[in-house]
Amino acid sequence: MFEDPIRRGLKLRCARCGEGKLFRSYLKFKDECAVCGQDFSVADTADGPAFFVGFLVMILFAPFYFILPMLPLPLPLMIGAWVVLLSMMIGLALFLLPPFKAVLFNLQVRNRAEEAKWESTGKHGTPPNNWKP
Ligand SMILES: [Zn+2]
Repeated sequence: MFEDPIRRGLKLRCARCGEGKLFRSYLKFKDECAVCGQDFSVADTADGPAFFVGFLVMILFAPFYFILPMLPLPLPLMIGAWVVLLSMMIGLALFLLPPFKAVLFNLQVRNRAEEAKWESTGKHGTPPNNWKP
């Protein structure tokens, strides 16, 4: 159970059984695993995958943003090169989003990640009951 959530995430499969598919559409999770019944509403990756994918894609393509303007290309060719570069960035980001989301989700499920729960130790700005000036 819960073996290698990263590998299962890269295959877009359930963290628990490794068989059931995670997504019902491009980035929408199913309600539960069709094979083992794992509830897919127990975790939420929020914008984590978009952050990591955007960061990775920008790192990979950043050198081209410095090199391309320095090339002595005629304007139509320069425009074409930028269109190709931006298309490649968008395509790579869209390609990477589902596996990144699946891996992050599987890690959350595997590690039972949830929002922090804590109790307040008192009201801010009010002294404790035994405080005397
Ligand atoms: Zn499953």
